[in-house]
Amino acid sequence: MADSLDAALRVLRETFGYETFRGEQGAIIQTLLTGDDALVLMPTGGGKSLCYQIPALLREGTGIVVSPLIALMQDQVDALRQLGVRAAFLNSTLDPRERSEVERRLSAGDLDLLYVAPERLLMEETLALLERSRLALFAIDEAHCVSQWGHDFRPEYRQLSVLHQRFPRVPRIALTATADARTREEIVGQLDLGKARRFISSFDRPNICYRISEGNNPRARLWEFLRREHPDDAGIVYCLSRRKVEETARWLCDRGREALPYHAGLPDEVRRRHQERFLREEGLIIVATIAFGMGIDKPDVRFVAHLNLPGSIEAWYQETGRAGRDGEPADAWTAYGLQDLVTRRQMVEGGEGSEEHKRIARQKLEAMLGLCEITTCRRQALLAHFGETRDAPCGNCDNCLEPPESWDATVAAQKALSCVYRTGQRFGVAYLVDVLLGKADERIARNGHDRISTFGIGGEHAPAEWRAIYRQLIARGLLAVDAEGYGTLRLTSAARPVLRGETPLQLRRLRKARPTRQEKARTTAGDLSGSEQALFESLRELRLQIAREQGVPPYVIFHDATLKAMASRRPDSLEALAGIHGIGQAKLERYGERFLAALQSAQPPDDNPALAEAHPTG
Ligand code: ADP
Ligand code: ZN
Repeated sequence: MADSLDAALRVLRETFGYETFRGEQGAIIQTLLTGDDALVLMPTGGGKSLCYQIPALLREGTGIVVSPLIALMQDQVDALRQLGVRAAFLNSTLDPRERSEVERRLSAGDLDLLYVAPERLLMEETLALLERSRLALFAIDEAHCVSQWGHDFRPEYRQLSVLHQRFPRVPRIALTATADARTREEIVGQLDLGKARRFISSFDRPNICYRISEGNNPRARLWEFLRREHPDDAGIVYCLSRRKVEETARWLCDRGREALPYHAGLPDEVRRRHQERFLREEGLIIVATIAFGMGIDKPDVRFVAHLNLPGSIEAWYQETGRAGRDGEPADAWTAYGLQDLVTRRQMVEGGEGSEEHKRIARQKLEAMLGLCEITTCRRQALLAHFGETRDAPCGNCDNCLEPPESWDATVAAQKALSCVYRTGQRFGVAYLVDVLLGKADERIARNGHDRISTFGIGGEHAPAEWRAIYRQLIARGLLAVDAEGYGTLRLTSAARPVLRGETPLQLRRLRKARPTRQEKARTTAGDLSGSEQALFESLRELRLQIAREQGVPPYVIFHDATLKAMASRRPDSLEALAGIHGIGQAKLERYGERFLAALQSAQPPDDNPALAEAHPTG
């Protein structure tokens, strides 16, 4: 056992350039090395790939990786080849000649890893080829695709139990980043993994800072956030509709950011090109509907912003999870307004589908709203939603960084609710606020609402405050939104005790429109000194140049963390370079000299070099 762990650590260091295993990686790898099956649940960015790549390198034969993400295979294989690993893929994008070359290499034992699309794998021809070859293991990636309940269901995944029947001696590992217990049991059942050892990690993503804010003009607030915190980082902005995607992308471009739209209404070719540019260029923003993201492997997405309220915590967690896969600080920034709440409620109530379906959608939206409105640590609440307990507040979410104030809103809520009642439960927020503020308005007069008891009783709050009050009353279920799409409000039974004065009501105070993050620059190079930043930028340029020469994304050459460590430690020999996070043997040989030259030609550090030596990063 100790021997196999030593061997695995050697590969981790020499091939991948990393020092230690993360979490359960070591134990998972050992399980496969001893020929047993494993089920691995790990969040995005947790380091799932190494769990099968290292055993595939150590065991005799080829590791077969089943993945539905055909578009990603080229990049995955490119990344492995950069490390000196013999990797290839088999899918429908290969022409017959390329395919037979890959097949030849497989039977000749000339491959460490082979990525295969499930439909290709299940063809009798492929299965027969595998039977003639030496196999190290099967890795079933994105294993939640077996689940009919998730949104990534792939029917072919249900047939993958054939692997166990036809190759009983080849160990299998199934991996997913989907947290819920029901999916987990489906994976075990469908893939015949009853005897597999289970490795279930925490779903916490500690490097992601969560912020959710409410109020007007989310777009202006997004701009503030980008300008202050991510002036030249890559990120994703999610919007609810195609139209809003297009508008927002154009708006960002007008302001000088490179932003590309991505949604299901665009031609395949355009989508493919935009995704490709996002992966290969630096600092690009993708503005997208949820159509974008499954299997986006880009490790240096520094922020994920939502300009609309997501429909469930699950979707929000998955989307925000695309930030910071490299483990460096990243932001999940969400903004929503009153209109979002109304739209989401209408989507649930007015949508098609069975009553049961609506009931589930309603519950999911309520849970998401709960997370938006809480005044305590968001991460604790998020993890609790996935069944994990965390004892202490996280210190890395808006509610921890700047605890929200709440106030006794009982009287205000009574006024707001009775205004809904007195006007006949037939109006939307804008009208109700006008009545509360006693506005001289023809429509109000025509309806006789300038003579009711709630006319003009709300002068103590500004219009924005009244909207915030209504929003929170809707979010807490005291008011319901009509399903027809007019945004009219009516009271629910939950409003009664508040109206009668039986229960007091605390609401969140509207946040001032200033950023909540501490005033510390947290751009990509934020933790480097001035001269280090300049050096980091020039290393980034060299990386981009090399990536272009080879037609691969820059992060396939080196991650930002590796460049940062180079910039702060300034290694002056190949040996010193080899000690840096993310530099294995193959990359050292390929790029070592060029990066050393760039480091040497840089200006000497402005701060004391002895100090720079004393605090290595990485
Ligand atoms: P997942 O598939 O779980 O989302 P990946 O396998 O892509 O995650 O790994 C996420 C990132 O973490 C990758 O950039 C990978 O190189 C890095 N990584 C994985 N394991 C380690 C480790 N033991 N030490 C340092 N970095 C690691
Ligand atoms: Zn927190």
